[in-house]
Amino acid sequence: MPLRIIVIGAGIAGLCAATSLRQAGHSVQIFEKSAFATETGAALLLAPNGARVLSSLGFSFEGARACRVHVWENCHGTTLERISCVDFDDAEERFGALVWAVHRVDLHQELLRLALGGCGAATLRLSSRVRKVYPESGIVELDDGSTHSADLVVAADGLHSIMRSMVTGGQALRTGLSAFRFLLPTSLMRQNPELSKLLDWKVPGASIIADTKDPVHERHMVWYDCQSGDVQNFVSIEYPPTHQLLKGDLADEKTAMLQEFAHFHPALIDIIRLAEDVKCWSLSIHDPLPTWVYGKTVLIGDAAHPMLPFGGQGSNQAIEDGGALGYLLNGADDLATLEQRLKIFETVRRNRASRVQTLSKVRAGKEKEIEQELRKYADGMDAVPTSFPERIAHDYGFDVLGKCAEALAVEKTRLPEPGQSQKVLAFANGLVGQETEGVPITQMNGVVQRDANYSFVPIGV
Ligand SMILES: Cc1cc2nc3c(=O)[nH]c(=O)nc-3n(C[C@H](O)[C@H](O)[C@H](O)COP(=O)(O)OP(=O)(O)OC[C@H]3O[C@@H](n4cnc5c(N)ncnc54)[C@H](O)[C@@H]3O)c2cc1C
Repeated sequence: MPLRIIVIGAGIAGLCAATSLRQAGHSVQIFEKSAFATETGAALLLAPNGARVLSSLGFSFEGARACRVHVWENCHGTTLERISCVDFDDAEERFGALVWAVHRVDLHQELLRLALGGCGAATLRLSSRVRKVYPESGIVELDDGSTHSADLVVAADGLHSIMRSMVTGGQALRTGLSAFRFLLPTSLMRQNPELSKLLDWKVPGASIIADTKDPVHERHMVWYDCQSGDVQNFVSIEYPPTHQLLKGDLADEKTAMLQEFAHFHPALIDIIRLAEDVKCWSLSIHDPLPTWVYGKTVLIGDAAHPMLPFGGQGSNQAIEDGGALGYLLNGADDLATLEQRLKIFETVRRNRASRVQTLSKVRAGKEKEIEQELRKYADGMDAVPTSFPERIAHDYGFDVLGKCAEALAVEKTRLPEPGQSQKVLAFANGLVGQETEGVPITQMNGVVQRDANYSFVPIGV
């Protein structure tokens, strides 16, 4: 029997989970509080760890008008002089997928197509705010007073999740950091000869333009294109803000941004002047949670691990969650198996996302500063990243579905066949295998020693 699953929130995490769970054969209903009338316009970087999960769900990068990020460069904010450049053309060989930039609205549309299209589709109810969940019984109560029950409630209600406090307690805290975001049509920039030259100068990918002379505020602007190159996306971060926006005066976000970046290169100031929709976001974070699962409820996405944008991993972690959930619940058609698979979900996801969440607190190159904190979430003897290249390898190179497959294989060997008991052996060298009852097996100096008649079956490395 397929499980009856309610997903709260049709954001990136909720729609990825709905897609993977329906593909696993379950019956999925999504409740979304908004009417999707005012979808927020801004773009995102899809890293290889997220992109490979999206590909496995049937996501079309072309359909979402995503742009390839070939390189990632760092420049001086005042002179635009290039400081360094990371090449992502070989990302597929190195990390298993490419790096993309995508407009949020396009990402959303493509995820909606996957979740709601065709036979066995999920259903979506808009303008349906969930006001309460009873985590142990799987009952969900909407603002209109109606109640709905499920075998599993997936709480994907974002940064200011109310489900988080019902599962484990606590709200995300403001950091004092703020981010300005805006989009510009490429054609508009082309009308200005100086900005047109700047577009020709820019690398095909992400440019990080930093205030290298001010170690206190560390302002920087990230610039990349989306929507097949028709639109340029800008996001900038600074701390502590010298403007008044976060102190209650929301009158003019563009003026505040111009103030913050007044000493940047004149061409960048011209870009800000052209913008019509500058928005200022205050940034929040939460410490990693001790658990994501309570009774019949599981937290995913920003509800489980709100993080800062340093590293650009918030959505990518939400996508990893969504993909992993469907992968692990494939074939889970009774409550006992569901409970066991949710434990595996936490094992595969919680330390991983907690490391990325901890890394998100520091800018590129400052990973060493949080090494001790990161170690709390290390998986076994695995090293934690302490430099920017290691962080890229850690974040981008993670194959969440591969990890799910390994975890399921280990779990299977724990379940005895009828009439036979088996024991899983996991060695320090990463070799995992199973032995038949009563057959002696040891490991010395990394070599498996066994009885001559015994055959060791490796099931994972
Ligand atoms: C400035 C900035 C830049 C960023 N850049 C990147 C980047 O480059 N790459 C990246 O990977 N990430 C980036 N992120 C992070 C990313 O935006 C988030 O991590 C991601 O949107 C989280 O997805 P989510 O589905 O968990 O939450 P959301 O996208 O917030 O979705 C939550 C959904 O739940 C709904 N909802 C909430 N409460 C209820 C309720 N009670 N009942 C029903 N529905 C409800 C909401 O309406 C919403 O639709 C950035 C974030 C910021 C602020």
